[in-house]
Amino acid sequence: MIQLYIPLNFLGVIYREIKQSLTDLERMFTLMDKEREVADVPGAKALHTGNRPPEVRFEHVDFAYDPARPILHDVSFTIPAGKTVAVVGPSGSGKSTLARLLFRFYDVQGGQVRIAGQDIRSVTQASVRAAVGIVPQDTVLFNDTVEYNIAYGQPGASREQVVAAARAARIHDFIEATPQGYATRVGERGLKLSGGEKQRVAIARTLLKNPPILIFDEATSALDSANERAIQNELRSAAQGKTSLVIAHRLSTVVEAHEILVMEAGRIIERGTHEALLAAGGRYAQMWNLQLNQPETLAETE
Ligand code: ADP
Ligand code: MG
Repeated sequence: MIQLYIPLNFLGVIYREIKQSLTDLERMFTLMDKEREVADVPGAKALHTGNRPPEVRFEHVDFAYDPARPILHDVSFTIPAGKTVAVVGPSGSGKSTLARLLFRFYDVQGGQVRIAGQDIRSVTQASVRAAVGIVPQDTVLFNDTVEYNIAYGQPGASREQVVAAARAARIHDFIEATPQGYATRVGERGLKLSGGEKQRVAIARTLLKNPPILIFDEATSALDSANERAIQNELRSAAQGKTSLVIAHRLSTVVEAHEILVMEAGRIIERGTHEALLAAGGRYAQMWNLQLNQPETLAETE
């Protein structure tokens, strides 16, 4: 009996662990509103990024969620290793779609997305997602503790590391003020967080994960301007030396980008540095002037 009991008990532990991780994966995909749209090719290897941050390339990318409705048309750009490329453009122009493709939520229909020279369809999804940190536009949290939600991208993180990330994302004081601090449960069955608070949890999660590639999809859009300014500085220092794709709702955050892409209806209609685009006097310059005329934005660019 004893001989049987030990292995069974052992199996029970493994079973619980497997079940837990499956539930998490499942929850992640449900929460992110995605089924498993992409599958690894047989024998897929892990992405190789080496020690340096990798270069990211979109080469003639065409993409549609629904074959009847093409979304991206011949999109090409390169984020050199350790640099930032910014994307601006009206709502619905395809900005978040770029982020989803780089995270490999979907596979492209034409062209390629390459990380460090490797087509991301040829390597495992898991290795791509481990290399990429994304602060999405709408963060959905797990029905679990604040600590679990922050540590999610970095299993085994210590409390000190979680707290440091939470401080950097300006959410620590808020957490400390909740009834059970870091053990407070959040989500549908727990404490409800505002859009800005959820966004700060997502930022903390990404800062803690500390991946070589970062995607900020309007990462501070839900924050009030005081918090936004403080966190912008944290994000800027987090992005130092990383390969970053920054989708910006406020033009002041893209000024220093290596290249700015202006998207419209799934195409890049203008590209260049801030200075070059202003000098060109096109759509970007128009957007910039429009934003300068908004007093709130003016105050912020001081
Ligand atoms: P942006 O981030 O610039 O506002 P998106 O990349 O989110 O734009 O969306 C680009 C286009 O793709 C929009 O027309 C949007 O309606 C469509 N779209 C976005 N997500 C999906 C989806 N899951 N299924 C079908 N169409 C989608
Ligand atoms: Mg978007």
